[in-house]
Amino acid sequence: YQAKETQSGVVIYSDEHETARRDSAAVEHCLRHCDADREMYVLYQPQVDILSGKTVGFEALARWNSPELGEIRPDVFIAAAERTGRIVEMTPILLRKALAAAAAWDGDFKLSFNLSTRDIDSSAAIDNICQIVSASGYPAHMVEFEVTETLVMADFAQAKSSLAKLSALGARIALDDFGVGYTNFDYIDRLCVDTIKIDRTFVRRLDERGSAEKVIRAMIDMCAKLRIDIVVEGVETERQLAFLRAAGARCIQGYYFSVPMKAAEIPAYLVRGHASAPKENAEFSLMA
Ligand code: C2E
Ligand code: MG
Ligand code: MG
Ligand code: MG
Repeated sequence: YQAKETQSGVVIYSDEHETARRDSAAVEHCLRHCDADREMYVLYQPQVDILSGKTVGFEALARWNSPELGEIRPDVFIAAAERTGRIVEMTPILLRKALAAAAAWDGDFKLSFNLSTRDIDSSAAIDNICQIVSASGYPAHMVEFEVTETLVMADFAQAKSSLAKLSALGARIALDDFGVGYTNFDYIDRLCVDTIKIDRTFVRRLDERGSAEKVIRAMIDMCAKLRIDIVVEGVETERQLAFLRAAGARCIQGYYFSVPMKAAEIPAYLVRGHASAPKENAEFSLMA
């Protein structure tokens, strides 16, 4: 939706803009009054080591089933929760759910969990997050907190101190959506980043003519030198996977292996191997 400015400087909003504004007000309203513990749940998307063919971790992805609005996408409700501040109550609820689910799976899996600006901005929120991880009994070194570049850049000093607390606990730090913001390897070094998640826009661009191949190769090489792990996000096709394998990427997350699943679906996924691996990819079909 776009706001159109006339010559007189009057801004005329299109209908789409008006609808979007009304919708986001409704989302904020329902979010303020929702019972997050009942209405929100977590899906889990596997991260697969393509050398061994094994699933090594899962990213926790929040979902909200609002009685008034129905299923709302996290892009929409997480942003609204950040605006209203409700995210600070939601994060502990979602984290507890995710840790409890992960503890029940058979095997040792990294659990990746997204944090937002508000979580990082507050010392009390971070202390609470550390306490939840400790109390859960899930090994802290198997928990990875994902933060975005923009989040970190907003208040570097605060981000640094919050991430240092999580690191001191033994948890890992991942930089999410890497490459779409302001990339600065000096910051990565100073923030105790363990993993970089290459944003799916780069993977999508592999299908076009352009520099995506070179850029991805450069990121993989740089991370290898800095001893930072890489997870490539949004891998959907055999062709993308083949390129990434040749480029030296190891850990892949994307629809190619599986869409995010409910906690109850994970045990069966682990038994049968990758949920949505295409048939021609026989190499993976028997391994979990
Ligand atoms: P993200 O952390 O970058 O998560 C990856 C998103 O890419 C997820 O969207 C996932 O479903 C989607 N995805 C994974 N593989 C593929 C693929 O092969 N193709 C395509 N097209 N998409 C793929 P989702 O679940 O809608 O989450 C969107 C964003 O919402 C997340 O992006 C994250 O920034 C935020 N989010 C989700 N859960 C939480 C949460 O618990 N807390 C916070 N603060 N943010 C969250
Ligand atoms: Mg993420
Ligand atoms: Mg991402
Ligand atoms: Mg994101």
